[in-house]
Amino acid sequence: DPDRFTQLDATTWQIPQQGNMRVPGILYADRQLISDMDAKVWEQLTNVAALPGIVQAAYAMPDAHWGYGFPIGGVAAFDPDQGGVVSAGGVGFDISCGVRTLTTGLSVDELQPHRETLADFLLYRIPAGVGSTGRIRLKDAEMTAMLEGGADWAVRQGYGRREDLERIEEHGRMAGAVPEAVSERARKRQRDEMGTLGSGNHYLEVQAVSEIYDPEAATAFGLQPDAVVVSIHCGSRGLGHQIGTEFLREMALSAQQYHIRLPDRELACAPLNSPLGERYLGAMRAGINCALANRQILTHLTRDVFAHVLPEADLQLIYDVSHNTCKEETHTVGGEKRRLFVHRKGATRALGPGHPDLPEAFLDSGQPVLIGGSMGTASYVLAGMATSEGRSFASACHGAGRAMSRHQATKRWRGEDLIDELAGRGIIIRSHSYRGVAEEAPGAYKDVSAVVEAAEQAGLARKVARLRPLICIKG
Ligand code: 5GP
Ligand code: MN
Ligand code: MN
Repeated sequence: DPDRFTQLDATTWQIPQQGNMRVPGILYADRQLISDMDAKVWEQLTNVAALPGIVQAAYAMPDAHWGYGFPIGGVAAFDPDQGGVVSAGGVGFDISCGVRTLTTGLSVDELQPHRETLADFLLYRIPAGVGSTGRIRLKDAEMTAMLEGGADWAVRQGYGRREDLERIEEHGRMAGAVPEAVSERARKRQRDEMGTLGSGNHYLEVQAVSEIYDPEAATAFGLQPDAVVVSIHCGSRGLGHQIGTEFLREMALSAQQYHIRLPDRELACAPLNSPLGERYLGAMRAGINCALANRQILTHLTRDVFAHVLPEADLQLIYDVSHNTCKEETHTVGGEKRRLFVHRKGATRALGPGHPDLPEAFLDSGQPVLIGGSMGTASYVLAGMATSEGRSFASACHGAGRAMSRHQATKRWRGEDLIDELAGRGIIIRSHSYRGVAEEAPGAYKDVSAVVEAAEQAGLARKVARLRPLICIKG
């Protein structure tokens, strides 16, 4: 309900500091998006704003919806020197879930005659669905090397190209990972899940560039009208989920010992400067590496499929962004540079032009920000703006965001019907689960164009290109 916020401008809505809040809450969205948003976002932002050591404000992006403890689409930064905390629920269970987009060098016309073959081949080669396993089995020492090396490890194993690494956050390898902090159980769950997509919201989509908004940035990203691209969305599978589950429990049990009063048990956290906080950071970073390695292996499998079906294609990585992370970063707060730990949960980093962490190719354009929409609507490629630093610790939305729960969606739609309807519109869906397709019905998501408009108007990221789906392999 927009009336519960103080409107600061067309797309900035504040929850003034009150009760036990330490900072205000800020939601970036337009009036319509807020009217349709679940009321839990207000409550969850208020709770996050009450956590120790939070800096500036608790933020929600325009795609925000209810999540475990923190809203999905939530951003919050904490200062370790002021009792700041790290929260397992603030990162999310699918650690470093993320998306990468690759150019193919093909046009829609070149792809058209091979679409069905490509879809079948992708479904056959990309392990997907609940509990799917891959062909890779990791022994203990290899698991440790993977948790330390991320996509860099994967490239060393022969999955992909060295130049891919420059197009991944952290150059493909998250520093500070502590494999020893990852439990035996978490490792075991991951042993045969490397190079798998997972289920539900995870997808591998072949897309066409349907509109260019910023030709200069589009050129820097390698995008032209009618070009075919591939987007891969997945995360750290069983390993990330197990890390999240275990640390959440431990953080909830030890909150009292650290004198943290939790406004909601789901916000369980530990001081950044505590053995538990440090152990979680080490494990979470290993989880990030697992997700980066996973997307890298899937990229290799995808290239292999294209090499068989469309050998003239050349799949080049534009960029890889993570959705669920807590990263140590330097940000300017009130004119002063500070070292902060930024939680982004269902939110994407969005560095503006000139940022030193960007690959040289993107210094003028800003960071590519990859936004999933749904399998039946559109997705977007945005670019980070200089203003996002002051507005959201250089963060933006990550998708359209759910408009209803999975359960509600399965009552409203049938997977078989959706697949038929989308086929009629020239979109091929391949999935192992009709139920999964129903849960992910395009109508179960917000209007991605409205979300992206709001993000641009709020100064978080600007539009570069719109993509339309051609083939979607659903997890
Ligand atoms: P999440 O990271 O929260 O699981 O999902 C990110 C976003 O991906 C969602 O908010 C949604 O907009 C988008 N999404 C979910 N399924 C699909 C799909 O099949 N295709 C595309 N292009 N986007 C999707
Ligand atoms: Mn995920
Ligand atoms: Mn995700």
